Amino acid sequence: RTVYVNGKYVPENEASVSIFDRAFLFADAVYEVTSVLEGKLIDFHGHMTRLERSIRELGINFTVDSDALLAIHRELISKNNITEGLVYLQVSRGAASDRDFMFPASDVEPGLVLFTQAKSLIKSAAADRGLKVASFPDQRWRRCDIKTVQLLYSSLVKNEAAKKGADDAWLVLDGKVTEGSSNNAYIVDENNTIITRELSNDILHGITRKAILQCAAELDLKVEERAFTIAEAQKAKEAFITSASSFVYPVVEIDDVKIGEGTPGPIAKRLREIYIEANLAAAI
Ligand code: PLP
Repeated sequence: RTVYVNGKYVPENEASVSIFDRAFLFADAVYEVTSVLEGKLIDFHGHMTRLERSIRELGINFTVDSDALLAIHRELISKNNITEGLVYLQVSRGAASDRDFMFPASDVEPGLVLFTQAKSLIKSAAADRGLKVASFPDQRWRRCDIKTVQLLYSSLVKNEAAKKGADDAWLVLDGKVTEGSSNNAYIVDENNTIITRELSNDILHGITRKAILQCAAELDLKVEERAFTIAEAQKAKEAFITSASSFVYPVVEIDDVKIGEGTPGPIAKRLREIYIEANLAAAI
């Protein structure tokens, strides 16, 4: 696989970054994951807009040049023959000359790394089967709206969920679900209203979330942006998650309680179909 590191395309085993890179020492970096279907990028500009915001929130000295970044994405897709999969992009504050909590001088170059992952996205066992999720307290820092590489807690709970026989973790803050370990969380009530937590610093502002809420509007489904409890979710008609790498996956069980019949629901299925259709047509 060819990867991109600070201006160069290199084989992955020749790629290197400094051990003083602040991404490595302080998780001082932000990232984006953009999906690829038929060799084209889904919602690329949405991801670049969020990247710009994450960078601004942390005061990283990096200018998001969408055209230049698009060219790098496309070059990697082509070099690695990706028809379906993901492009990972990471911007770090850069490598200082030593380990220091204080930010380095502004002339330190930020770090830019990209790589591709081939992955079947449309055909998906998880989409067909639905996910079982387990709940955990949300012990992340309270700026979940910034897409940082500080993912240890999410990784921990995902592993704890797997130990309990679940596929993913839903996080609970002050009694209400915030989001999944790496996705936004939704339920559907008996009136077919879609409920998902409102945007705030407590969740990542999902690019797929925004698109799915548009799809819901096109299907004339009502949307309520508010927090819900695990108990409410367990009594819901349907539940599902969204992210760039999953699109829409139904959730069929929460903390060992079946949702509805315990099989993927029709609304999650329909949203997945129309999301793929609309976003593939708009892919670049
Ligand atoms: N929430 C978290 C914590 C995530 O890590 C992600 C994606 O990585 C999402 C939500 C979904 O965001 P998007 O739809 O932009 O992939």
